[in-house]
Amino acid sequence: MSPEEIEALAWDKQQGLLPAVVQDARTRRVLMLGYMDRAALEATLATQRVTFYSRSKQRLWMKGETSGDVLELVSLETDCDADTLLVQALPRGPTCHLGRASCFPDAPGDFLAELDALVARRERDRPEGSYSTRLFEAGPRRIAQKVGEEGVETALAAVVQDDAALLGEAADLVFHLTVLLRSRGLGLADVEAVLRDRHAAAAR
Ligand code: AMP
Ligand code: ZN
Ligand code: ZN
Ligand code: ZN
Repeated sequence: MSPEEIEALAWDKQQGLLPAVVQDARTRRVLMLGYMDRAALEATLATQRVTFYSRSKQRLWMKGETSGDVLELVSLETDCDADTLLVQALPRGPTCHLGRASCFPDAPGDFLAELDALVARRERDRPEGSYSTRLFEAGPRRIAQKVGEEGVETALAAVVQDDAALLGEAADLVFHLTVLLRSRGLGLADVEAVLRDRHAAAAR
């Protein structure tokens, strides 16, 4: 964003403070809403760390300045009439000061992202008695084998036109695929990013 573009924003209409919606750049989940004055916007662009003007503190506030849970800037856009900012960022920890990923309740439709996060926690904590823990302990070859099996079962259920079985096997497949990706340090969001890129390329 150039100095001219910053100047062209609807500062006067908003008394110098533009609402800034922050979205997770990977999952598109809305994380929080803050306000930016010119200085906060310039600091965000200069440091690549999302910085707001805090109305309660009455000063610039870099998100994560004390918690360390910063928001790394990915992109910054304005809405149709340039009075609101849309910030895409990569959160380095929970964005909400209550320890949650987002300040807003889980959006319906975000369940796969939740599952992805749950599987990541299982891999880290390895709670006893958890099926995910057993898979992680069995190792990547065993997990890969499970994905292969569930893939074949999914295909067979479709061939015999058993929709209930197809859904059940597809669910097994998605779950085991999530575990397999996690065993390689990856997540469903990384798969989503590949699909998004292809979609963008196809639309060009
Ligand atoms: P932080 O910027 O994460 O170091 O947090 C510093 C302080 O800012 C916290 O103690 C809260 O008072 C406030 N805060 C942090 N995150 C949020 C948020 N997402 N929404 C509103 N206030 C927040
Ligand atoms: Zn607007
Ligand atoms: Zn919050
Ligand atoms: Zn199965």
